[in-house]
Amino acid sequence: EQNVNNIKPEYIKLFQFDKKLLPFTWTVIRIDGSHFHRFSEVHGFEKPNDEQALKLMNSCAVSVLEEFNDIVFAYGVSDEYSFVLKGSSQLYQRRASEIVSAICLFFTATYVMKWKEFLPQKELKCLPNFDGRAVCYPTYEIIRDYLAWRQVDCHINNQYNTCFWMLVKSGKTTREAQSKLKGTQTQEKNQILSELFGIDYSMLPIMFRNGSCVFWDKEMTVTDNGVVAKFLKKVVVDHSNIIEDDFWEAHPLILEE
Ligand code: ATP
Ligand code: ATP
Ligand code: MG
Ligand code: MG
Ligand code: MG
Ligand code: MG
Repeated sequence: EQNVNNIKPEYIKLFQFDKKLLPFTWTVIRIDGSHFHRFSEVHGFEKPNDEQALKLMNSCAVSVLEEFNDIVFAYGVSDEYSFVLKGSSQLYQRRASEIVSAICLFFTATYVMKWKEFLPQKELKCLPNFDGRAVCYPTYEIIRDYLAWRQVDCHINNQYNTCFWMLVKSGKTTREAQSKLKGTQTQEKNQILSELFGIDYSMLPIMFRNGSCVFWDKEMTVTDNGVVAKFLKKVVVDHSNIIEDDFWEAHPLILEE
């Protein structure tokens, strides 16, 4: 017969395995909507880009930055968001599962709460789900490469999807559209858009082409005794190119620690 009074907490805790993030290392928590292909159909999202749905994602990301102080930058596209946690963060003593679940669920709850604000004419018919993972990126170059990789992915997908949906909307079957685009390079896709549909890809909304960046608008100030002080103002959303150096040179404080 088991006596609960004899169960020692140290013994039960032996079975607990805490995966901790590497110390002093930038960590990306990337969340991605589960089955959003279907979720977007059920809710009649405009294809290929529903602007209001993207703005809802961005607004949720702003809330995440306001809630979790150690998140210094976020990049979002489609149904995904990458949140960059600064290397010195001690959030949940760097226990990965707590960090991922807290951010994922905060984002999901905010998405549900703000749905009406961004898509007032649409009923939320099923619950959105986001999965999440944490990956550590040990150097400045590698975290920059990670972010560039996501933005390159945004470019490639958006260009493909823009062509695909123009072909479908003009009467092609999805199969015909797929086979027309199979193996085409960037130039050929731009050609299809301009020749068949009179669309200049570079004139499409920048949020669709570049995705969205979310960060604290910081300011550097030199005080009387020469100390550089930082003032956090507010969280901003923009659609900068984060592949080139310009953005990072203009915002040197974002990835400083
Ligand atoms: P998984 O569960 O594996 O992530 P998924 O169906 O969510 O599957 P993704 O690769 O994550 O697939 O792609 C997300 C899909 O959601 C896109 O292909 C697109 O169809 C849809 N989607 C997401 N956001 C929007 C949006 N703002 N406007 C239109 N469609 C969107
Ligand atoms: P942490 O973020 O570390 O989990 P916490 O404040 O959530 O901090 P817990 O140790 O998880 O602390 O304890 C949950 C607390 O929530 C309880 O101490 C209690 O005060 C409160 N609480 C939870 N459920 C109820 C409930 N049904 N009725 C009243 N109080 C509750
Ligand atoms: Mg997924
Ligand atoms: Mg998805
Ligand atoms: Mg996705
Ligand atoms: Mg707890």
